[in-house]
Amino acid sequence: MRGMVPLEGQEVLVELRDVTKTYGREPNVFVAIERVNLRIQAGEFVGMLGPSGSGKSTLLRIIAGLTLPSAGVVLYRGQRLVGVNPHVAIVFQTFALFPWLTVQQNVEVGLQARGVPPEERERRALELIDIVGLDGFESAYPRELSGGMRQKVGFARAMAVEPELLLLDEPFSALDVLSAEALRGELVELWLGHRVPIRAILMVTHSIEEAVLMADRIVVMDKDPGRVVDEVYVDLPYPRHRKDRAFQAMVDRIYAVVAGETEAPPEALGTAPGIPGPTVALPEANMNAVAGLTEELLEAGNREDLPRLAERLNLELDDLLPVVDAAEILGFARVRRGDIALTPLGETFAEASILARKEIAAGRILRIPTIRWIYEELQADPDGRLPSGYFLERLRADFGEYAEEQLSIAIGWGRYAELFSFDDATDELFIEAPVPTPR
Ligand code: ADP
Ligand code: MG
Repeated sequence: MRGMVPLEGQEVLVELRDVTKTYGREPNVFVAIERVNLRIQAGEFVGMLGPSGSGKSTLLRIIAGLTLPSAGVVLYRGQRLVGVNPHVAIVFQTFALFPWLTVQQNVEVGLQARGVPPEERERRALELIDIVGLDGFESAYPRELSGGMRQKVGFARAMAVEPELLLLDEPFSALDVLSAEALRGELVELWLGHRVPIRAILMVTHSIEEAVLMADRIVVMDKDPGRVVDEVYVDLPYPRHRKDRAFQAMVDRIYAVVAGETEAPPEALGTAPGIPGPTVALPEANMNAVAGLTEELLEAGNREDLPRLAERLNLELDDLLPVVDAAEILGFARVRRGDIALTPLGETFAEASILARKEIAAGRILRIPTIRWIYEELQADPDGRLPSGYFLERLRADFGEYAEEQLSIAIGWGRYAELFSFDDATDELFIEAPVPTPR
């Protein structure tokens, strides 16, 4: 049965032996990944977590045969991989659909490239379109579809070629929270129900919760150089629920692996440090405290022991952690073995004028899906105003009783960055001023 691991006696699909990938030439060689050993067996859903730049995408490309390793061996079913791997398909964060092709034609693209005859192409495309729940949209064009639906077309296209191994590179992180959660559930159902002939899945994600929700095994990577640092089996039965105690315990355990010695405050669950995932909960920290933290770190020479920092700021460690978390999510700081250090961006932020800080903050917080969603909804509204209940209702689906708290944190951050604000008199959120959407 799927979901019960470790698997014994299953075929090994992929095996990486001491795979290293470097870019550049002497004396400017950059080690993207170093001596990675990894096996993926039939029947496994493997999650891969790691900070940005830890070589996750590089590893996927190597497995797909799109990039050659600089050293080490890639085996597929025991054979050395030569050229593009015909047994895999990749789904990226945003799937490049051809705007001039219909949904069905987009799904058929991969089959056409493999020389599948037209009737067979049509049959398989229609079946997959049905499986991913796009029945009725066969002749629609990408522009007529929501982001979630477009990503479904991407999944259908990848699955149409019947890959043995499906590689997913942060496939949900460009979607709004609700579409992402729906699509996650559908993928798990397809997988568990054997509705597609996929034998194994390797999914890169930034979100610890997403990995725990879906994977049987989680491979944890770190960077400088990119490498595998740990591996955890997720022996929870499906369907998994985020609110379950065992689920939360597993998330905590993986958080501890990912964050070294940082204790996970509950507000920080659902994201790897520094990188917001699709359902990231905002830590209860205000932006002025984050700014204060970066200033204090700058003064301390960019690095400080967390307990000592709490002392300097005259805070309890517990009160400091959400602020530290916010700084990590925004990409201003990183925590390593109880030490916090500013990133180059955090340094820039700490040294910037108030106005420049707001701009930096705006760019960063708009990467957080919840905030981006609020901002885009307000922008789409002709008056740039919407009642808070409108947002709360949808946040409740993800955050339940914490929806109010989340909305109020989001408003605080939005205010700081002058993206949007809250009108007490009318109970509405409104756009502060037109700000160009950063890329
Ligand atoms: P991740 O997906 O974990 O964010 P990547 O695999 O994209 O990491 O990248 C790992 C490291 O390799 C990064 O530091 C990135 O800048 C570097 N890198 C990736 N591709 C190239 C390339 N074609 N040339 C030079 N450096 C690269
Ligand atoms: Mg990547």
